[in-house]
Amino acid sequence: MRKLHVKSYGCQMNVYDSHRMTDLLTRDSYVEIATPEDADLIILNTCHIREKAAEKVYSELGRIRKLKQDAALAGRNLIVAVAGCVAQAEGEEIIRRAPVVDIVVGPQNYHRLPTLLARVERGAKVVDTEFPVEDKFDRLVPAAASATRARGVTAFVTVQEGCDKFCTFCVVPYTRGAEVSRPVAKIVAEVDGLARAGVREVTLIGQNVNAYHGEDAKGRPATLGHLLHRLAEVPGVNRFRYTTSHPGDMDESLIAAHRDLPALMPQLHLPVQSGSDRILAAMNRRHTRAEYLDVIDRLRAARPDIAFTSDFIVGFPGETEEDFRDTLRIVDEVCYAGAFSFKYSPRPGTPAADRADQIAEDVKAERLARLQDSVDRRQGAFNQGCAGRSFEVLFEKPGRLPGQVVGRSPYLQPVQVMAPSSLIGDIATVRITGVGSNSLFGTLRSSEIQDSEPQETGIRAPALAGTGG
Ligand code: SF4
Repeated sequence: MRKLHVKSYGCQMNVYDSHRMTDLLTRDSYVEIATPEDADLIILNTCHIREKAAEKVYSELGRIRKLKQDAALAGRNLIVAVAGCVAQAEGEEIIRRAPVVDIVVGPQNYHRLPTLLARVERGAKVVDTEFPVEDKFDRLVPAAASATRARGVTAFVTVQEGCDKFCTFCVVPYTRGAEVSRPVAKIVAEVDGLARAGVREVTLIGQNVNAYHGEDAKGRPATLGHLLHRLAEVPGVNRFRYTTSHPGDMDESLIAAHRDLPALMPQLHLPVQSGSDRILAAMNRRHTRAEYLDVIDRLRAARPDIAFTSDFIVGFPGETEEDFRDTLRIVDEVCYAGAFSFKYSPRPGTPAADRADQIAEDVKAERLARLQDSVDRRQGAFNQGCAGRSFEVLFEKPGRLPGQVVGRSPYLQPVQVMAPSSLIGDIATVRITGVGSNSLFGTLRSSEIQDSEPQETGIRAPALAGTGG
């Protein structure tokens, strides 16, 4: 068997896509290996979100060129493929700048990899970045139960791809294309297969996941809320999450799912990007600050223990100090349990990149430091508020210390507990006894291990309001 190494950059959607490519290729021709040195096929599954993403790929390709030379000296033909959003955005340019590359394949075309590889073996270089008419998901193969088990007790499932929102800073609508949703029945079948292989927690993913509009059994479009209600009936999966959402697509059916489904975890990543209406309009976010806060209120009314995390961009073109203070104010108003925050950096081809009123780097850096300080204080208060409470923890893997296992709280915090490794894959009630910088520590109530049925936590979100700072 030939050897395959896949290196994944970026978000969970790329991790999911890497698994699908691996499942497709390991079905008959390849075995997966963890390092690139002995590989016969290396796939770089790239991400275009972060700054200088393409340059990072080119420098990785420089290292791979040496591996290809070594392989040739040993009489092997190492095939190199670049997949993902950088492949989509750069296309043929990748092969022109890095002749070591044999295949450039966009995110919508992974299912064609066996055909593309056959063409390369006949001596061709291939670029496939069209948006195909056939459904990629119909052509990809489900993971073998053994592969699913090896990946652990949590799993991602793509339910939607692409985005129609066109925020002025974002490349996703250009690299991933228009919104496409998978039919409900196919998602249910995939989640059922994961459950049978031992997965206990499923995160539904999509670039704009709550714009989901897949077909239901009667051929009508289903919302994400309806999909979650259907998935909650699948035996064996105890927990669901979904990411990443747009505030404008948080409809009543989804809010009702938060109210009605104990298995839907009380933690939601709901990016706001800025607290200033002026900047939100310039970003084409299609919602105001008040509308965002109204969504937060409605979710809290439906699920009082819910906690929120967010994304922020500071130093968007034209952002004034007053705009930035509106962002600091929304951090205090929502009391986020955590957030990802970044300095604005222009993405070629997006409208905001061409604006003349770019913010100086030192101003961006200073604002980012202030925002991160504010978020860190909120996150610290949230975590401290967990001390003394009991959470249901899904145990995922051994801890760093002998005799320790690590799981996740309903709020996705890592929880370290001294307990037998036989607990991995189970949900147990843990009393939180300590709060570290990145983890919670707790003790197990061993009599409360559960095997299957989801249980309500019976807690309110700790320190969600009025924590000061
Ligand atoms: S909604 Fe999200 S994915 Fe879509 S354009 Fe805006 S930031 Fe990008």
